[in-house]
Amino acid sequence: MPAVFSMHSLRTALAAACLVLAPQLYAQSVAFSFDDGPSLAETPRLSPQARNDAMLAALAKHKVKAALFVTAGNGAIKPEGLALARAWGQAGHVVGNHTMTHPDLDSAKVSLAQYQQEVLDCDRIIAALPGYQRWFRFTFLREGNTPDKRNGMRSFLRQQDYRNAYVTLDTSDWRLNDKLVEVLEKNPQASAADLEPIRQAYLAHLRQRALAYRALAQRLQGRDIPQMLLLHHNLINALWLDDVVKQFKDMQWTIITPAQAYADPVYALNPERAAPGQSLLLSMGRSLGLSTQDLGLRLMDDGDFEIDALKQQGL
Ligand SMILES: [Zn+2]
Repeated sequence: MPAVFSMHSLRTALAAACLVLAPQLYAQSVAFSFDDGPSLAETPRLSPQARNDAMLAALAKHKVKAALFVTAGNGAIKPEGLALARAWGQAGHVVGNHTMTHPDLDSAKVSLAQYQQEVLDCDRIIAALPGYQRWFRFTFLREGNTPDKRNGMRSFLRQQDYRNAYVTLDTSDWRLNDKLVEVLEKNPQASAADLEPIRQAYLAHLRQRALAYRALAQRLQGRDIPQMLLLHHNLINALWLDDVVKQFKDMQWTIITPAQAYADPVYALNPERAAPGQSLLLSMGRSLGLSTQDLGLRLMDDGDFEIDALKQQGL
């Protein structure tokens, strides 16, 4: 009965963590991670190199050390894409693994063996880069649609000495990025003022998710945990990452390295994943029997709230 085993070990770990760490001693902290990069896809406004440079410049300006999770097929399989990934490692960021072609392990068409091969193939491409760590970020945050796949990946990652690079602060930056690109494709001359509603919606979205996941961590763990933020290697972050970092600082959150975040015992948990594709905190909540309604729909709505508000503004 895996559910019983998992509930028990999860509760034990939760209780131990609560006893050891007094919440008031710790300010809220967050580490930054970027998936699906580096991307050589064309977008309006900035070249792939310029997007990469802009994200790295924003991180450097704020002295933030982040993690890049490489989907090699998006760029790193080519020398010019690998150079973009190398720039992250050279700047002191972690370079981790996010497969070759971003398959979905929850798809019946993707076998466990295929998925494992994707991890190994990506590893071969990134292993020589500076900053390389054996950290694996599941694509779509989905760990498999069958127990065999999920357990198979858990033992594979252990054998390969790979960490499951969990996310706790999940966002829909990709959805707002899609909207930004769509608006710029329709109106290449759009001014900063034209784009301001999207920038505001993006920042408001991240703030809402940050506060909601902080509240969920307090509820599940009885304390603030170091949050692992998921963003993507995309145009919206090339344009506005500086504002994103500033907003966290204005909220009095401390920005830490991904390694500092993963040192917290919460990231060693292996909760049951009743619903895939989501934050470790949602998996923990579901493993404890909390419903979607109870956990909060706006943690899982793919940014629908912000997209609907932008539509009402004619965007
Ligand atoms: Zn991804």
